[in-house]
Amino acid sequence: MKRPTPQPGILDIAPYLPGKSGAPGSKTVKLSANESPLGASPKAMAAFAEAAAHLEIYPEGSSRLLRKALGDVHGVDPNAIVCGNGSDDLLHLLAQTYLGEGDEAVMNRFGFSVYPIITKAAGAQIVLVEETDYTANVDALLAAVTERTKVVWLANPNNPTGTYLSTSEVERLHAGLRPDILLVIDNAYAEYVTAADFAVGLELALSKDNVVMVRTFSKMGLAAARIGWMVGPDHIVDAINRIRGPFNVNLPAQMAGAAAARDAAFNEKLKAHNAQWRDWLTAELSGNRMRVVPSQANFVMVLFETPALAAKAFETLAQAGYIVREIGASYGIDNGLRISIGSEAAMRGVADVLKSMDDIQ
Ligand SMILES: *Cc1c(COP(=O)(O)O)cnc(C)c1O
Repeated sequence: MKRPTPQPGILDIAPYLPGKSGAPGSKTVKLSANESPLGASPKAMAAFAEAAAHLEIYPEGSSRLLRKALGDVHGVDPNAIVCGNGSDDLLHLLAQTYLGEGDEAVMNRFGFSVYPIITKAAGAQIVLVEETDYTANVDALLAAVTERTKVVWLANPNNPTGTYLSTSEVERLHAGLRPDILLVIDNAYAEYVTAADFAVGLELALSKDNVVMVRTFSKMGLAAARIGWMVGPDHIVDAINRIRGPFNVNLPAQMAGAAAARDAAFNEKLKAHNAQWRDWLTAELSGNRMRVVPSQANFVMVLFETPALAAKAFETLAQAGYIVREIGASYGIDNGLRISIGSEAAMRGVADVLKSMDDIQ
């Protein structure tokens, strides 16, 4: 039978599995997608609403007003920034631009599950690298590089593990790569990091020819608006601008993003809430028959003694109204659950439910 055929590799892709939500109208608390427990910045919501008065007009295509705000806040030339319809948009564009058939992209075994999808969609192969206790191992990443390697995908901090590489380790990784290999530093959780030896990839992205930093507003209260941004050298910005959708960030998103970027008070409140309850949940759950991997993000990965126990914990939490993220199917971590940091009530509730399970105490 003759019919249209997808490009090689496309049908090998396992579709992305989003975090589950409760049934519509049900009283569940969603802790499966790393969303903000404090809503969005009130200034961002006001800006989004204001944009509703101009829905008949195409947005300015380069997201100028959003790049200007990001440039002001982060001290970057707006010309070094490209905005996207979520950072997923930019990650796809980077893969499409720098990967093709016969190429390889290197990533961590428990790295973000979008990287294999976009790599295969571009016709290239993914090379998975073992980690050391769920943390990226720079020597192992460098050892996995071959002459076919074109891209290294690094989420820092990483999803779903919450672990991170220090500034000096990221620099060592970059220093060990050939100049024709693109290092993509995905700092999706940067706003939540409290570790003193961490830095975003900005300095490398502004000073090296083969590094880009990718960021998102999704984890900071604007997941629905779909806003991502990247910083990189001129030649990469130029290439991405040639193939991105000409109006890839809609006007309400541009306006909400610009207001959110400038709302330091809200962003600090979210970071402080997260740090407090991330530490609390980590301490509360540790010492029972669960291990909480130390996290720098807005979630924690909890490891149980067996996959069966993790499945039982998932069900018990769901019955109590807490939807967390299973990470067996997407990541192969069968004995783990990823729990987003939520409200104080949600964190106390989750801890109570888990600690009351007989076989976990
Ligand atoms: C959530 C997430 C993203 C995607 O964010 P969007 O901007 O919503 O597309 C990218 N990278 C990592 C590591 C993430 O966890």
